[in-house]
Amino acid sequence: MFESLSDKLHDVFRKLRGQSTLTEANITDAMREIRLALLDADVNIKIASEFIEGVKAECVGQEVIKSVTPGQQVVKIVNDKLVELLGGGASELEFKSKPTVIMLVGLHGSGKTTTAGKLALLLKRQGKKVQLVAGDVYRPAAIDQLEIIGREIGVPVHAERTSVNVAAIAVNAVEQARTAGTDVVIIDTAGRLQIDETMVQELVRIRQAVRPDEVLLVADAALGQEAVSVAEHFHRALDLTGFILTKLDGDARGGAALSIRKVTGCPVKFIGMGEKLDSLEVFYPDRMASRILG
Ligand code: GDP
Repeated sequence: MFESLSDKLHDVFRKLRGQSTLTEANITDAMREIRLALLDADVNIKIASEFIEGVKAECVGQEVIKSVTPGQQVVKIVNDKLVELLGGGASELEFKSKPTVIMLVGLHGSGKTTTAGKLALLLKRQGKKVQLVAGDVYRPAAIDQLEIIGREIGVPVHAERTSVNVAAIAVNAVEQARTAGTDVVIIDTAGRLQIDETMVQELVRIRQAVRPDEVLLVADAALGQEAVSVAEHFHRALDLTGFILTKLDGDARGGAALSIRKVTGCPVKFIGMGEKLDSLEVFYPDRMASRILG
């Protein structure tokens, strides 16, 4: 069954053929293949090495089960460990408060505004009453973009075009949402092309003002390892509750998911699988493990 897991790992199967016990010597080559597959998927080199050490420790000394080949057994151990590192199961949103407030942060171009719309649509389809908030007040085009998305999916957008006090705008929006019996408020925020302290401080002020239930970093999976330093920086300043990885419909192999999880300890909650507004999916660690080993 694990033969199909990975074309890249065929050498693991070949090299381990005929072994009855997994020893350090006979899994060394297999570990090299797995390390290459991880690096190829853009997993950070330090994290890949640590991972390999963990897998090795688990493999050595294991008797090969009769029903599988040694290669299958090693790949299963690798797969299970990857799934565990990626969070085990899906980590969905909790709706403990009404309204539940979700703040989206991230660099400009990461897909934040689109993702705000996608998340709003996903939650609306679950029967929730949703409100979007235009928090990127410096670019009128960003407010226009969110309003267009809001109209397309039939979700109201709170915008205050004459104010640049985003914390106050967000507080107003949450207040109105509470009165209106809204279930979820999603706040889109401003991003820059690179991490910028002024931007981060503004996000900190919004976070303090509205005390969101979720602060999710929207990160472009194609950034690969760079996404990890972005994640670390945002997490330090904002105490994130999770991630949304976008553009996984492209070439990105998803190593960023593993690195981000390992470095911050926060779960990836959703993935963006396209430009369309219905292309946001719940993140499943087992599927991502297969993709990383792919
Ligand atoms: P923002 O600056 O972070 O608000 O980014 P936008 O929401 O404006 O998105 C930037 C670009 O990325 C737009 O062209 C989006 O259509 C595109 N985009 C967002 N999410 C995805 C995704 O999951 N897949 C693909 N292929 N494109 C995406």
